[in-house]
Amino acid sequence: MSIDHGRRRILAALSASLGLAAAGLPLRSRAAPGRVVVVGGGFGGAAAARALKQLSPDLDVVLIEPAAVFRTCPFSNLYLGGLRSFGSLGHHYGHLQRRHGVRVVRSMARAVDAEQRQVRLADGTRLGYDRLILSPGIDLRWDALEGYDQAAAERLPHAWKAGAQSRLLRRQIRAMDDGGLFLMVIPDNPYRCPPGPYERAAMVAHYFRQHKPRSKVLLLDAKDAFSKQALFEQGWRQVYGDMIEWVGFSGDGEVVRVDAGERSVETAFGQRHQAAVINVIPPQQAGYIARQAGVTDRSGWAPVKAGTFESSLVPNVYVIGDAAVAAPMPKSAFCAHSQAGVTAAAVLASLADRPPPEPVWLNTCFSLIDADYAISISGHYRLVDGEIRELAGGVSPLVATTEFRGREAEHARNWYAAMTQSIWGA
Ligand SMILES: Cc1cc2nc3c(=O)[nH]c(=O)nc-3n(C[C@H](O)[C@H](O)[C@H](O)COP(=O)(O)OP(=O)(O)OC[C@H]3O[C@@H](n4cnc5c(N)ncnc54)[C@H](O)[C@@H]3O)c2cc1C
Repeated sequence: MSIDHGRRRILAALSASLGLAAAGLPLRSRAAPGRVVVVGGGFGGAAAARALKQLSPDLDVVLIEPAAVFRTCPFSNLYLGGLRSFGSLGHHYGHLQRRHGVRVVRSMARAVDAEQRQVRLADGTRLGYDRLILSPGIDLRWDALEGYDQAAAERLPHAWKAGAQSRLLRRQIRAMDDGGLFLMVIPDNPYRCPPGPYERAAMVAHYFRQHKPRSKVLLLDAKDAFSKQALFEQGWRQVYGDMIEWVGFSGDGEVVRVDAGERSVETAFGQRHQAAVINVIPPQQAGYIARQAGVTDRSGWAPVKAGTFESSLVPNVYVIGDAAVAAPMPKSAFCAHSQAGVTAAAVLASLADRPPPEPVWLNTCFSLIDADYAISISGHYRLVDGEIRELAGGVSPLVATTEFRGREAEHARNWYAAMTQSIWGA
């Protein structure tokens, strides 16, 4: 299949994944009254803002996002591995604003007053809303791992939000001597992008194989099983031999303390590991504004009504993307995008006093093992008895040809191009 054809196919699937087709709404419906404010211009928020304008062109849609350029976590591992430039991860809001009619406000939302239906911005401005969609992504939990705070992250980067942290980690990998150890600390579930750490291991090994072949990658994990595990372990072995070692919870993989000064970590059973580069992915929670708005519970994440993603705790506020509790859907960009479409349709239905349309959500997460070797996991979700259920899904086959793995790598590249184009493109 040609790349263009592949891209067109994926674009069609993405538009279906936005739930626009499933929503049973004409693509352009009559104007719904009022204003919808969306907080967060990442995969969930920017996609929701665009879908709202697509479905209801006269609706006032305001997107609040502090960054001028959004840097994607998807493909940031490829940047670490030297397969993508940093610039290729950046996407602007110009098209959303000028072409799609979304009012983009470059600011941070500081507080939500749900009684007054207002959002307060960093400069004190108050913005009224009829419905509010929060898609703030994650915050790292600085209180969860002893020794790991914001200052420590400047020495032991997390790179779990793309941008300056990704560059810092890339610089450290490049500055490392051949024969050095790259150590990654991986949290227990739930966290952003379940297969992300394991793809990162492969991408770092990809770079080492080319430039520092005597180096090693050690993964210390707080759990005993992970997404696409058999496929990752097979791929790591096939492509990188014994360069990557994974230690799970039962093998004393849980890190309980880090020492940024010494560049070392300590496990639950007291083993100390020192490394040339340490990448700490700490436990996470919903972004600050979700917690401030009162939509999160003790878990730190936001429980939602399954059919619409309206908060279970605060009316007229919807939470999508990583911040929401949406299991069995993973915290992925694909899911955030899929939720955005379903929730945009639900918000419009609620403004028009209609019942929400029947939701369908999709997910596919590709992980690169090498430049031309990828694996994937997919899921198709629906509402069953008021709960989100995975009705179909699966992973790449364990037995596959080199061509098959190569085609999946091409699908991954097409997916990234189509997804970012469908959100930030013209
Ligand atoms: C290394 C890595 C690789 C990944 N690879 C993939 C992949 O291949 N495929 C995939 O599907 N997923 C992948 N993911 C997961 C994906 O990045 C997230 O699931 C996705 O970004 C979630 O979208 P979101 O809208 O919830 O949050 P984000 O995309 O993070 O967007 C949140 C936005 O909200 C803004 N914001 C936060 N607080 C405020 C506030 N108070 N006011 C205004 N704006 C605010 C932030 O600036 C940000 O722009 C990966 C993640 C990582 C870490």
